[in-house]
Parts: sequence; structure tokens; C-alpha cells
Amino acid sequence: MLGNIMDQPLLISSLLRHADRTSGDREIVTRTVEGTIHRYTYRDAHMRARRLANALQALDVKLGDRVATMAWNTHRHFEVYYAVSGIGAVTHTLNPRLHGSQLTYIMNHAEDAYVFVDINLVALIEAVADDLEHLKGVVVMTDRAHMPETSLANVLCYEELIESHSDDLEWRSFDENTASSLCYTSGTTGNPKGALFSHRSTMIHAYASALPDVLHMGESEVILPVVPMFHVNAWGIPYGATMVGAKLVFPGPRLDGASIHELLVDEDVTCAAGVPTIWLMLLAHWREAETQAPALKRTVIGGSACPESMIREFQEDYGIEVRHAWGMTEMSPLGTVSIPKPSMTDDTERMRKQIKQGRPVFGVEMRIVDDTGAELPRDGVAFGNLEVRGPWIIDNYFKLDRSESQNAAGWFATGDVATIDADGYMEITDRSKDVIKSGGEWIGSIEIENLAMSHPEVAQAAVIGVPHPKWDERPLLIIVPAGGKSPTHDDMIAFMENKLTKWWLPDDTVHIDELPLGATGKVLKTKLREQFGDHTLPTA
Ligand code: AMP
Repeated sequence: MLGNIMDQPLLISSLLRHADRTSGDREIVTRTVEGTIHRYTYRDAHMRARRLANALQALDVKLGDRVATMAWNTHRHFEVYYAVSGIGAVTHTLNPRLHGSQLTYIMNHAEDAYVFVDINLVALIEAVADDLEHLKGVVVMTDRAHMPETSLANVLCYEELIESHSDDLEWRSFDENTASSLCYTSGTTGNPKGALFSHRSTMIHAYASALPDVLHMGESEVILPVVPMFHVNAWGIPYGATMVGAKLVFPGPRLDGASIHELLVDEDVTCAAGVPTIWLMLLAHWREAETQAPALKRTVIGGSACPESMIREFQEDYGIEVRHAWGMTEMSPLGTVSIPKPSMTDDTERMRKQIKQGRPVFGVEMRIVDDTGAELPRDGVAFGNLEVRGPWIIDNYFKLDRSESQNAAGWFATGDVATIDADGYMEITDRSKDVIKSGGEWIGSIEIENLAMSHPEVAQAAVIGVPHPKWDERPLLIIVPAGGKSPTHDDMIAFMENKLTKWWLPDDTVHIDELPLGATGKVLKTKLREQFGDHTLPTA
């Protein structure tokens, strides 16, 4: 017997309509690419998104068509999200840090019909335009006065496009499983693969993300997503924040410590979200300028492991709660959040849990398995391949067979290696491809990196496996020294030896000026392996 409940589809457009009706005067503030501070309200955003939706339909953008964006976090990008998905087309966000050949591949694979581009990114589209097979036109996201010179064909001006259409539009209804947005994720090998989200998955993810023990979003919060809107939809914040009518602050292209600090203070931001590298820059700025952001209550840190030193600095020096979170593009992206349980009162125990990636958000199920697929115990010791499933996790990659993403039992293999403890906290020890195998046993690089980064003379650290005649591979510690110091290998070992399993201690330490970062701000271990792969260990 079925329940007697209305079958109303969960559609993204309803978020903005709801925000207009119930939090219509709540602000959305942007540092624009042109450099000014722009402020308006959810009501204004809704009005302009409707105009843009009419404009897109006039351009013959239809249900299911892909419309790309190559843009920073701004109010205009926010409008494009809602206008494109609102008419049943698919917002395809492009990462401006991608190599031209990857960009061409992605845009052709997605069959992007239009691309919305920020003024300072136009050159990236110009560089690949001749190779784009499906592109009908380009919309430059600015007003007439700031339109750049360009060699591109069929170029439109965003503000003119909006001005020339009315806001008279009722959002159309369609199946909630209709595709809404598309985000490619690049592995270290092979072509990037597309994660195609639906209205339903985005809406359920938005509900979950707003929960108090997840991103804690509500109307009284002021939320600054530093995480780019081209990186898994800024972790879904543009949807969750709109659902609850939170004030949104978009940082535009300026992500340095001083610029983020200025917005945090000027807009009384209460919660900011981003990858660890962003927070390194902010904390360095705070230390140098001897300042802080008094309204900031919470930072959400994910995308790479958040070092303990960073958690401590935020919490102990500034009284700002760190929410360490883990997820991936294929998971929309929310997977886990690490918050100690109320029963955990001991500071050491609380910190031990916070360093972990956390407990799954309701909706995400996870397990660890060995190489034969057998499930491993949830004892915090056994580590294995992490598998997940849930209503916002991809079923298959865009245009690929289901077997490319999930196994026969319906689980998605994350490619992460992890433990799960008896309290339900998951801890990533490595990406499976970064795991160091020493004498047949796995060494988790993340724990070593975390420990090395808590050394006062170390700014950043990465650990890779390098060949060893006896053990196959042994860990090499690569550090970016802090404050003009240069800790030696012996210094590092002295610091780590009582805190780490003995055979996990690195065999050597090398210094580097900066760690190579990939398009989403993660350390590129492939590059480090290229550079240091033939390093001769003193133990070899
Ligand atoms: P992406 O799809 O680009 O967001 O990358 C997802 C991957 O980033 C995950 O599979 C993890 O390997 C890594 N990752 C994300 N968050 C964390 C975290 N909190 N700690 C460690 N690794 C993380």
C-alpha cells in the first residue's frame, strides 16, 4: 500500500523561489571580478535568474542541454546555476586550472552548447575555441563597460542578456531525476570523468548539508564558500544556504589571506568553507597582521586531510570550531563530518576524533573491504578500500558504463583507503594509489604528513613511497620549511619517533620550496613521485 502523499518533484528552482518568498531581503554579497563589492538580495537574485532563464530559452537552450561555466564564486555564477538548472538544462562547471587539452576533452565530451565565462578567464576559452565541437556561443559575465576584446565568435554580454529579457517566468516542472549539473573529476590517469547530478540528489544533499551537525546552515548564518563553485558546486553551499535563506558571501577571484580576511570581517561571516591550502594562507595572514575575524564561529575544512596543527590553531588560538569533512565529486560531495560526540569530554580524545575524516552524514553508508571484497571490521585498526552508497552518490559516470563506477553489489569504490572505528569515525590513511607498501604492509602517508606538519619549523609536508631494495618501498618525507628554518632529517625523526609506529618513520627528508598542487588545490603526488621517485635513500 502506498502513502497518500503528493508526488511533488524536488526541483532546484523551488529553493530560490522559497528564499525569495521567505528570506527575500537576506543579502548575497560578492567581490566581483571587476573588483567592486556587489550586494543584493535573494529576491533580486531570483528576479535576475528568471530573466536569464528567459534569455536561455530564447537562445534555444532546451531540457538536457549542457551549459558550461568558467567562473569564480560570484552572484552571477549563482544566477547561472539557478537559471540553467531551472529550465531543465545542465550547469557544467569548468575548472579554470585545467590544462587546455583536458578542457577541450571535457567540453566536447559534455557537448557544451554555451559557456558563461568571467572576464579574466576569457583567454582560456579563446585558446581552445577552435577545437570545441558543439559550442554555439559565449556569454561574458560582465556589463558592456567591462567587455574585453576577444577573438571569440558569437559573444554576448551577460548584463545585456539579462536586461533584454523579462522576469515573467513560472519555473517549469519536470521529473526530479532530471540532470541538473555536471562536474568532471580528473584522476591521475585516463580522461576526466563526469559526475552528473540530478535535481533530486541535489535537493536531498541540500537538506542534509544544512543539518546542525553537518554544515550548520540557517537564516542567521553568514556563509562564505571559499571552495570554488567549479569544485563540486562549492560543496553544495549555493543550494543549502538558499534553502535556509542564509546570507551568502562570494569571494570572486581573490582568495589570498588578506582578501578573505577583509570579507570575513566586513560581512560578519559566521561560517567559511574551503580546502586546507586556503586556510594556511588565512592563518599566515592573521599571524602576520595580528588580527582575526571575531564573528567567525566555524570553518569547514575538507578536500584534503586537515592537519592537527590547523585544527589546534583555529580552535585554541582563535576559538573557531573546525569541522573536518570528507567527500568527493562523485558524492555531491558530502560524505563525512568529524565532530566529537557529546560524551567525549577528554581533550586528547576529542582531537583524535577531529583529525579523522568523521562519521557519515545520514544518507551515506560506508564500509571498508579487502582486495577480495570481504568486509573488514569496524575496529579503527583494520584498513581497507572505502566503499560508499547513498542517494547523492553517482550510479555511473556520465556516458560510461555502470561497471566503471560501482561494483556488482552496488557500492561505489572511493579509491580511498581507510579505517572505521567502533564509534563510526572513518579515517583516511591514503588514496589507494598513494599507499606506500613496505615489506608487503601498508604505510599511511596522511598520518605521517599530519605529524610532520605539527613541527613548528614545517609549513607543509608530503610523504611518498620511493623504491627500496629490501622493503620494496619506504617513505620519503618532503617538507616545505617554515619561517626560514631548515629542520634536518634527524630533527624530524627526533620529533616523530615516539609518536609514530617505528617502521612508519620516513627513511629520509628532503626540502622543497612549495608543493605542486593540482586543479582543485590538492597536493600532486604524481609530480612528487616524478621528481623524487629515484631518490636514493640512505637505508637503501
Ligand atoms: P574530489 O573529487 O576532487 O573532491 O576529491 C576527492 C578526494 O579528495 C577523496 O577521495 C579523498 O582522497 C580526498 N579528500 C577529500 N576530503 C578529504 C579529507 N578531509 N581528508 C583526506 N582526504 C580527503
